[in-house]
Amino acid sequence: MTRRGLCLVIAAPSGAGKSSVSRALLDSEPALHLSVSATTRAPRPGEVEGIHYHFRSMEQFLAMVAAGEMLEHAEVFGRRYGTPRAPVEAALQTGHDVLFDIDWQGHRQLKAALPADVVSIFLLPPGMAELERRLRGRGTDSEAEVTRRMAAARAEISHWDEFDCVLVNDDFTATVDKVRAILRAARCTPARQPGLRDFVAGLLAGG
Ligand code: ADP
Ligand code: 5GP
Repeated sequence: MTRRGLCLVIAAPSGAGKSSVSRALLDSEPALHLSVSATTRAPRPGEVEGIHYHFRSMEQFLAMVAAGEMLEHAEVFGRRYGTPRAPVEAALQTGHDVLFDIDWQGHRQLKAALPADVVSIFLLPPGMAELERRLRGRGTDSEAEVTRRMAAARAEISHWDEFDCVLVNDDFTATVDKVRAILRAARCTPARQPGLRDFVAGLLAGG
């Protein structure tokens, strides 16, 4: 019996560090697949089609939703974001764990769609001034975009207690270590080890 993969969701207010944490985790966990979202926002400098996002027009995005091709989708900062269904289902069925960088709305929908598969983490910034500093320090968003994201941060943070685990992303290395520990613990649940029942039966039969 093939092990079914799990869904590791990392959510946070924009700028708290979830992309950086996700990248570090993916570098050290080669078996982890990243779910590449579709979005109607424009690429930032350095972002590559199909690697960071599938960049789509509003018409293309709405057509994907209408065709049932999105596992979840939401409006964030006035733009549309969604998770293409097929790659996620294929990965889970072949025993691969999938990492999701999505917002609280996407987390809610994913948990409703795949309740037995989702393990979720919410990252908090150490402070609101530090969050703003990180957003500006990234250097990729306009002043208006920073203002928009700071206004939305409080709304995102208000959903912190819907998540399985909550981490304050102060020390980066410590945060990545904790996320890795959460993933490894989630891989130890009985549901993720289909051979366990037979192993235990063998143990007991052997006396
Ligand atoms: P998000 O994906 O949540 O929007 P990013 O990963 O792009 O956030 O991080 C925003 C900025 O903050 C980046 O410049 C990143 O290098 C920085 N950053 C992330 N985590 C930390 C941390 N623990 N301490 C200091 N800076 C951080
Ligand atoms: P950004 O524009 O900074 O890449 O992402 C903005 C926000 O959209 C982040 O909170 C990110 O987690 C969220 N997001 C990215 N992809 C998806 C998605 O597929 N679904 C949902 N619901 N949110 C997403």
